[in-house]
Amino acid sequence: MKQLLSLFLVLSLTACAAGPRTARDRTVTATEEHVTAQSGEAGITDPVREAEHDPASKAPLGAASLLPEEPVIPEDTPTAEAPSAPEEPSAPEDPAAPERVLDPSRPMVALTFDDGPHAEYTDQILDILEENRTVATFFEVATNLHKDPDAVRRAVDMGCEIGSHSYRHADLGKMSQEAIQADLAAADELFTQVLGQAPTLLRPPYGSINQALKTSSGRALVTWSIDTEDWLNRNTEKIVSSVQNFGNLDGQVILLHSIYDTTVEATRILVPWLLEQGYQLVTVSELLTLRFRQEVQTNHLYGYSLFRWQVPPLAETPVTPEAPEVLSAEPVSKAPIKVKLVLRETVPDESVRTELLGKDLLSLQARRL
Ligand SMILES: [Zn+2]
Repeated sequence: MKQLLSLFLVLSLTACAAGPRTARDRTVTATEEHVTAQSGEAGITDPVREAEHDPASKAPLGAASLLPEEPVIPEDTPTAEAPSAPEEPSAPEDPAAPERVLDPSRPMVALTFDDGPHAEYTDQILDILEENRTVATFFEVATNLHKDPDAVRRAVDMGCEIGSHSYRHADLGKMSQEAIQADLAAADELFTQVLGQAPTLLRPPYGSINQALKTSSGRALVTWSIDTEDWLNRNTEKIVSSVQNFGNLDGQVILLHSIYDTTVEATRILVPWLLEQGYQLVTVSELLTLRFRQEVQTNHLYGYSLFRWQVPPLAETPVTPEAPEVLSAEPVSKAPIKVKLVLRETVPDESVRTELLGKDLLSLQARRL
């Protein structure tokens, strides 16, 4: 059959079964991490502990200093002539839902913002994302939700992803399994009040993880691969340069915090810069499913070693001579999101358009998109 030049996913980021304002369901798969389970509950394992906004916290070195610098590999960053999928005359079922087109043959980056919501800055970050028609992931502290619940709902409506950052930012890696469960359940309750459902992604405060948390939290644990140290430097220029000087950013998860004006200003610079470099800004779940081609599974840790060292090669175009193997994807999760799949062929003006409604995005991931 005809060769496919490229394949796009148009994600209609509306929500799922539970109602108009639900956090999107995600589940996750995983690869591991360097979990060097220490004895008992103190086994903190992520190599990069999140130091965050409390400068007094003895965060070990930031990620950047832990990582050997990698030579910049010029990725093919097809900014110039990225196929313009928006030209496809799509029929928006839900005009309120923004449509984004993700091309698995192009590099992806996930911006993540922790510790919010902040009464002012979360909305300002959302403004920046909206102006650039893109998204990020927010790991919110449950007891902060009251500060701006509308911003959190707005984020979901924009297609952003909301993850839990615990109930009140406790060091879960030092807690017993029972205490962890109590903390997460209390957080879930507040998230459910605001969003209608609880997040499945969890970013442990400080990146602190013990064996109990890793294996039985019932969540997908997500850390990061680039620490901008925005909590420490409070300096827009340094935040920006930590990203711009990193090298190849494809597949990376960038740690930021939505509670500093300097981070907002850095975001204002970084978002358009990243887009100009040819990166697609995606949520963490999108990064895992579309770029890493993994299901998002609970009780797995997605962290530094995955994002930093296990980025798969970019899908090549033409991808595959076969059309939508994808269509036979089985849903792996109950809460579906609308996914519109657009296959573009080599023959101009001939495209195959397929809509998968009620299918879980995550079920698509393993299909070699
Ligand atoms: Zn935090």
